[in-house]
Amino acid sequence: MGDKIKKILVANRGEIALRVMRSCKELGIQTVAVYSQADILSPHVSFADEAVLLGPPPSNQSYLVIDKIIEACKMTGADAVHPGYGFLSENASFAERLKKEGIIFIGPSPKALAIMGDKLASKQAVKKFDVPQIPGMDEPISDIKEAKKIANDIGYPIMIKASAGGGGKGMRIVFDPNDFESQMQRAVSEAKSSFDDDSVFLEKYIESPKHIEVQIMGDMNGNILYFFERECSIQRRNQKIIEEAPSAVMSAEKRKEIGEAAVNVARSCDYFGAGTVEFIADKDLNFYFLEMNTRLQVEHPVTEQITGVDLVKEQINVAEGKDLTYRQSDLSIRGHSIEVRVYAEDPENNFLPDIGRLITYKRPQGPGVRVDDGFEEGMEIPIFYDPMISKLVTYGKNREEAIERMIRAIDEYHITGIKTTLPFCKFVLRHKSFVDGSFTTKFLEEHFSADRLKKSLTKEEEMIGAIAGFTSFNHDSTSGNHATFRPKKSGNWKLRHS
Ligand code: ADP
Ligand code: ADP
Ligand code: MG
Repeated sequence: MGDKIKKILVANRGEIALRVMRSCKELGIQTVAVYSQADILSPHVSFADEAVLLGPPPSNQSYLVIDKIIEACKMTGADAVHPGYGFLSENASFAERLKKEGIIFIGPSPKALAIMGDKLASKQAVKKFDVPQIPGMDEPISDIKEAKKIANDIGYPIMIKASAGGGGKGMRIVFDPNDFESQMQRAVSEAKSSFDDDSVFLEKYIESPKHIEVQIMGDMNGNILYFFERECSIQRRNQKIIEEAPSAVMSAEKRKEIGEAAVNVARSCDYFGAGTVEFIADKDLNFYFLEMNTRLQVEHPVTEQITGVDLVKEQINVAEGKDLTYRQSDLSIRGHSIEVRVYAEDPENNFLPDIGRLITYKRPQGPGVRVDDGFEEGMEIPIFYDPMISKLVTYGKNREEAIERMIRAIDEYHITGIKTTLPFCKFVLRHKSFVDGSFTTKFLEEHFSADRLKKSLTKEEEMIGAIAGFTSFNHDSTSGNHATFRPKKSGNWKLRHS
């Protein structure tokens, strides 16, 4: 058993740094912030007990410099590092280095980071564990002729993926075999320039799938639990923008099946700490392993809302070498939670970043509303980092209430000075295919265009009575939390309740 952690350095910025420090405060653990010159006024800096300036704004001169983080730990006497998400959170050499310095890394082992950080290595690791995989290959390929043969065997459409890819980058879809060679060439050179690793592989492109992922958590004594699923199918550029827990279409049996598959993925690399196993699911809810993210996920709050678990506290507990404080049978789903990511991006202009100053910034409040953010009114959104302003999370006794609250909270959120993704999120939340649960990762392509935000939804698109009162939902008084819903036929997805 390890030692009790006394001081945590949070090697990150903005909302996630604050999120982690809040749990530390509740646990009586001292906090150290690190920051770049662009973040001197950032709330995470003043919130911490101590703060260390790392250097100039670009992350490769500040948040990504391992030596500077180690130096900051030594200077402040921090005995552990929480990496948040992004930056160094999935970096095996960082975890290795901390170990060497005798500082606790709040995350999995360097071995697990290395395996799951590589999409191909992860596919090979889970092979022995009866986890459904997307048809495709588990070896890198560089020979174009050979690759084309394999593509024919797998069957079009094909997705070419960079093994080291992440953040929605390094993926190409090929529909027509005649385009294969040129796309393959581009994929290889992009992988090389973006990830400094030119290995790519081929996968069947699943058309109109749902992205469903499972939160897991393991301890160092081999206990691994699943904390149910999140549905994250509303994406732009293969990157999530709206997430919810639980998924509207999951049955109790499927939930158990996908939860246990996720635990098996974690077992394949002796995982401990918090992690997320991502799957894509087809129309019949057949699910296939996509990848594992070896860290706290951006959208973890929706899981916290429905389970009542503080995932950060649990991470810290595990990092101290203690057993998980829950057993699988302790965990259950209560109510429903939705997160919308508020990015400084213009939905009317291809979601291009719209950086600038938050001239007005008033957060929504009230029952069932949680805002995780890292800015105050008057602050600039720096151009150097991910342009996420905040995560707006709502909780309701059931999905309808969570949606109603989200629309109310979006209306209450007052931001001027920059464009944000909020109007787009409101468009989605009122759209029939979101309300009836049939939406897929193709939502944007199928239902959205820039001019749509200027027009109101048509009668067809808007679920009649959906917003005010959800008259088409039947409240099931026996289950308490969830409402049953008879969807008007729209795709093959069926809304279920747990
Ligand atoms: P999640 O699955 O939690 O939504 P993402 O995979 O979108 O997380 O990434 C989390 C964070 O890390 C985001 O801020 C994203 O921009 C960043 N990120 C992750 N991988 C990469 C990458 N390869 N290149 C650039 N940014 C990345
Ligand atoms: P990243 O590391 O960038 O998060 P993922 O492999 O998790 O990459 O994929 C990100 C998103 O891209 C998925 O959520 C899904 O929308 C889409 N995607 C990835 N692989 C496939 C596939 N084989 N078929 C269809 N969509 C896919
Ligand atoms: Mg992913």
